[in-house]
Amino acid sequence: MVKWRGRRRSDNVEDRRGAAAGAGLGGLIILLLRFIVGRFGIRGIFILAVVGIGLYMAGVDPIALISGQQVAQSEDTTIDDETLEFVQVVTAETEVVWSQIFAEEGYIYEPPRVVMFSNNDRSACGAAMAQMGPFYCPLDKTVYFDPSFFDELARRFGAPGDFAAVYVIAHEVGHHVQTITGISAQVRNAQQRARGQGEANALQVRMELQADCYAGVFANRAERASDFLDEGDLEEGLRAASAIGDDTLSRQAGREIKQENFTHGSSEQRVRWFRQGFQTGDEDDCDTFNASTL
Ligand SMILES: [Zn+2]
Repeated sequence: MVKWRGRRRSDNVEDRRGAAAGAGLGGLIILLLRFIVGRFGIRGIFILAVVGIGLYMAGVDPIALISGQQVAQSEDTTIDDETLEFVQVVTAETEVVWSQIFAEEGYIYEPPRVVMFSNNDRSACGAAMAQMGPFYCPLDKTVYFDPSFFDELARRFGAPGDFAAVYVIAHEVGHHVQTITGISAQVRNAQQRARGQGEANALQVRMELQADCYAGVFANRAERASDFLDEGDLEEGLRAASAIGDDTLSRQAGREIKQENFTHGSSEQRVRWFRQGFQTGDEDDCDTFNASTL
């Protein structure tokens, strides 16, 4: 278990879970009122108000009656608060580590925003959907994810544990680092000059493996600076890195394993680069672009 409880929380995390459902309920009530006015005129609203007040005085919340969700929502709150605190603390730890690394080179680190959503949301890069998995949008410099992905990681991909979630967040923060250092832009330019999709994908793999290596650098530094990890955490991270390798995902989906279609690297490569970053804690050891073997 990562030692995250009671630590400093980041202000850069936005919890948008349940936002869409709330808007849906409001919209539903407006539609209902429009229907009643259209059908029965203003008198309809009057009757509805009388019925509503009657129910309220009898101890029934009419809104809860319409939505039918009030009770379930209040039960969820404790679990949700825990997820939020966990993500805020992990984000804060990444801010400390990357601020330190940037300061060593004489730069100031501007951290990303982190948005948690449920089911779907909007990013500057287009729709954010739970089934896309966590991603980083360079246009609004924000990490997006539906935390239900972490359950999926445990159940479907066989990579449980809170450090698996830390690894995923740290990987996306790694993409933020690549963006603000200009690496992402260089890769995109090179991809535009690439001959064919295979070559463009190969560049994408190097980019993803570097983000894995950065996640390892983060884990090393967070451990050294604030005793963040516990026994078994590294194994959880390595298992997660292995579980979401392109070859493993292809095999699970029953697809043919073709190296030229890889965009994130094989399980073995992802494990190797995460481990590389973790062993040295030096981001200079994450130069996947000039590595002869990945
Ligand atoms: Zn990635």
